[in-house]
Amino acid sequence: MTTIVERLSSSLGHDLVLTGTAIVEDDAHDESLTAAWHAPDVVVVPESAAQVADVVRIARELRAPLTARGSGTGLCGACVPRRGGILLSFRRMSSILEIDTENQVAVVQPGVTLQQLDEETARHGLIYPVFPGESSASLGGNVATNAGGMRAIKYGVTRNQVLGLQAVLGTGEVIRTGGKFVKATTGYDLTQLIIGSEGTLAIVTEAILKLYPRTPHAATIMAPFRTLQEVTAAVPKIVSSGLAPMIVEYIDQMTMRAITAASGLDLGVPDTIEEAAQAYLVLVLEELDRTRLDENVERMGSLINDLGSLDVYVLPPHAASSLIQARERAFFTAKAAGANEIIDTVVPRAQIPAFLSRVFEIAMQTQSPIFGCGHVGDGNVHLSVFQPDPEKLHDTLSSVFEAGVAMGGAISGEHGIGTEKRSYFLELEDPAKLALMRRIKAAFDPDGILNPGVLLDPDGAVAGRN
Ligand SMILES: Cc1cc2nc3c(=O)[nH]c(=O)nc-3n(C[C@H](O)[C@H](O)[C@H](O)COP(=O)(O)OP(=O)(O)OC[C@H]3O[C@@H](n4cnc5c(N)ncnc54)[C@H](O)[C@@H]3O)c2cc1C
Repeated sequence: MTTIVERLSSSLGHDLVLTGTAIVEDDAHDESLTAAWHAPDVVVVPESAAQVADVVRIARELRAPLTARGSGTGLCGACVPRRGGILLSFRRMSSILEIDTENQVAVVQPGVTLQQLDEETARHGLIYPVFPGESSASLGGNVATNAGGMRAIKYGVTRNQVLGLQAVLGTGEVIRTGGKFVKATTGYDLTQLIIGSEGTLAIVTEAILKLYPRTPHAATIMAPFRTLQEVTAAVPKIVSSGLAPMIVEYIDQMTMRAITAASGLDLGVPDTIEEAAQAYLVLVLEELDRTRLDENVERMGSLINDLGSLDVYVLPPHAASSLIQARERAFFTAKAAGANEIIDTVVPRAQIPAFLSRVFEIAMQTQSPIFGCGHVGDGNVHLSVFQPDPEKLHDTLSSVFEAGVAMGGAISGEHGIGTEKRSYFLELEDPAKLALMRRIKAAFDPDGILNPGVLLDPDGAVAGRN
């Protein structure tokens, strides 16, 4: 370790290389409920891509694992430092380099947070539309996890917004991909390969992001339904209605009770309806024009009514934003209630009723209570699993993931694989695809120094350090 610290300090200067008490506790973990914390041996806080490249070259020479860390809001252990390795933190690379209003793009350093970008784009009447539940997340982390969130149903996920990247490969080479344009048919799409690669292919040092006009008018509709099946069966009809909702979420009864209680929110639902409602649909519509919004709310309301809701509420603005915030905090509410794991399986949206039926069978069989909510418009459900026995928890998750994959879905819709879902991923993924992924990894990172043990094999080329 001394050699690593000495080499880093002589290359970057002592101020940018942190050890001992200079390392904060936060750097030892992310928000995963299961990943073991591990305090980093050394943290580097680079100020430029050139310095990141120097760190990569030193890590490569010394065969030291290198883990990039954004804000540590990840949910699968992917930024927890490896033993004997280096943690690369982007808190000093957190500038918005440009808001280009003519090309409608933002150019950002990786440590910029979603909150920071939202405040800046608002000044220009623009918006970066990816809103995962945690606005302290960094753009570097968002790119590396292909972050999604509630608005994905209308705008897509991070990979639909990133036009180009600057990135440092595991060889120390610095590349630029894409640019301030929406299309290119000029070789392999390296931007898309790096997005969602969880820090295992390259370190992102800059991103060019698409911006959109900020829509001034929005309305939030909440509809209680008698059963969860009715809610989920209604979703494909709502999505194909042509009314282009920005948010389509479901929240089951337990979760709604827990999140409203946790945030002291009274939505004014009469007791009789509250008792009968097994699940809720929450929709947000937005428009540039107020009259058009009112018309669409009217149409959406009658469609939901026809689909069998117990009632339809158009929430006043304060209640609407409080409910969305409470939904964003659902993870912390479930954690406080003692959930042992929270998963985010995705299936085709029309398969959600069948998927959730199977999930509840599994919950009964394994005696693991499962509750949830989720971005149901894009088929992504977030399930809180209560099962303290690690073996039973593993069996429960295995069965749920297997059911999702068998229905044409994937283990994770947005949180990623990290270290915590790796065993399920390696078990359920097509071996030919895994072999190709390993070859891609070797091309980007020949010595396996970038986040070994995340996504693919624990050893990589940095043997014995995990
Ligand atoms: C309450 C809550 C709600 C959430 N809701 C959502 C949601 O709705 N949708 C969603 O998608 N996610 C959600 N998340 C998960 C999390 O916010 C996202 O995964 C986010 O993208 C992580 O960003 P971060 O900066 O915290 O990354 P970190 O947790 O620091 O790191 C995540 C991964 O990115 C890599 N990484 C970080 N920076 C770089 C870089 N510069 N270059 C290369 N790799 C890098 C790390 O190595 C790691 O693999 C939620 C989390 C919480 C706590």
